[in-house]
Amino acid sequence: MSDLTKLTLSDALGGMAKGDFNSVELTEAHIKACEGAGKLNAFITDTHDLAREQAKASDARRASGSVGKLEGAPLGIKDLFCTEGVKTCAGSKILGDFQPPYESSVTANMKADGMVMLGKLNLDEFAMGSSNETSSYGPVINPWRKNEDLVPGGSSGGSASAVAADLCLGATATDTGGSIRQPASFTGTVGIKPTYGRCSRWGTVAFASSLDQAGPIAKTVKDSAILLESMSGYDPKDSTSIDAPVPDWVSACGASIKGLRIGIPKEYTIDGMPAEIEKLWQQGIEWLKAAGAEIVDVSLPHTKYALPAYYVVAPAEASSNLARYDGMRYGLRVEGENLADTYERTRTEGFGDEVRRRIMIGTYVLSAGYYDAYYLRAQKVRTKIADDFKAAWEKCDALLTPTCPSAPFAVGRKVNDPITMYLNDIFTVTANLAGLPGISVPAALDADGLPLGLQIIGRAMDEETVFKAASALETAAGFTAKPTKWW
Ligand code: GLN
Repeated sequence: MSDLTKLTLSDALGGMAKGDFNSVELTEAHIKACEGAGKLNAFITDTHDLAREQAKASDARRASGSVGKLEGAPLGIKDLFCTEGVKTCAGSKILGDFQPPYESSVTANMKADGMVMLGKLNLDEFAMGSSNETSSYGPVINPWRKNEDLVPGGSSGGSASAVAADLCLGATATDTGGSIRQPASFTGTVGIKPTYGRCSRWGTVAFASSLDQAGPIAKTVKDSAILLESMSGYDPKDSTSIDAPVPDWVSACGASIKGLRIGIPKEYTIDGMPAEIEKLWQQGIEWLKAAGAEIVDVSLPHTKYALPAYYVVAPAEASSNLARYDGMRYGLRVEGENLADTYERTRTEGFGDEVRRRIMIGTYVLSAGYYDAYYLRAQKVRTKIADDFKAAWEKCDALLTPTCPSAPFAVGRKVNDPITMYLNDIFTVTANLAGLPGISVPAALDADGLPLGLQIIGRAMDEETVFKAASALETAAGFTAKPTKWW
């Protein structure tokens, strides 16, 4: 049998349906790949025995005629999703060996659809980061390499690295400011952040609740549609969950984009962007034009305020969400002289530098004297950014932009320079601030042979158009490169 780990999710599901192989065989092939990939540090927790059991049960279900959307597919789960009885630590020491007594709604949906879980994937601590270097479990390494170790992007670095290295057929991820799309761009994979409210946030460790959104990282646009269909859906347990049916996104993949109006926002041309990325963006325009789209110039005038607004709103919400880690109820506890001292010691030891930085910024911008100057103003900017998009939708149906202003960089290069690190999110945070769907599609290799992605952003609730345009881009780009195995 040829190497089953090279299959796409769609082909693997097809192969099992035809009886070419079963879930046990598919799962064993992926477990073997995971066992040989320790150097990537993509997984924090392996659940191989559980995966074997799930695969066996899946094969039995299939034999009895019951086949779910993800039936028998071995997948990876970002360690931000609570998984019942399986350690969930959000890449942080403060959660210790926390084993949730409940399952997140997203993973519960996937389980109900027959997934096999290979393990929990590494991430930046509490999903705060753009390089997967803030994890308490050490950095994830990008399978793409150039003389030195490169970051896979973050915060969903483990998810992206594992999918790019064929350790799993797809993975869950989350995106608060770009954490699905930027790692997808850095690893030659596809990542979609759906509309805010499409996927339930219940049971997903909270970072910034008004921005957090789950989505998949996958090998192809179609695979990402299959996964998102399973992950999405109304959930009464999350008050921001949208009560709308989940459309057939798989059918949107490959559909014609004739007459679709694609907007090119002029503010996304920034100083210092590598010429290669600028050129790829132009190429993307040509590809979509050739596929029948109409290209229109649009303006999103408040784009330059997006990053500063994000880095006020996200830390503010984080500082409030992270107040629950006090050493009393679960996770790490470092005993002190009295209650306040116990809180202080626990939080000092439990949180890493980046998380502490965010808590300090967040409490500062929310404090009585500065609330109006920072937090309130950032919220107003957020409204302006959402209004910019609303105006753009009068002229176009979707936007095309680069995903990131750079290719993957070396481990250690930006970790001590938070401002440079924050610039990674310049093209992705706007979609979070406005709650819009955005996808990154691998489009080319740069001169160093490293992957670069292009992004499509769509109207709220219009993932269908996003999938159509992304699929046209994928077909035109014909990106089939894979990293050379060195791990
Ligand atoms: N890099 C951004 C941050 O550090 C976004 C992270 C995310 O989307 N989770 O906040």
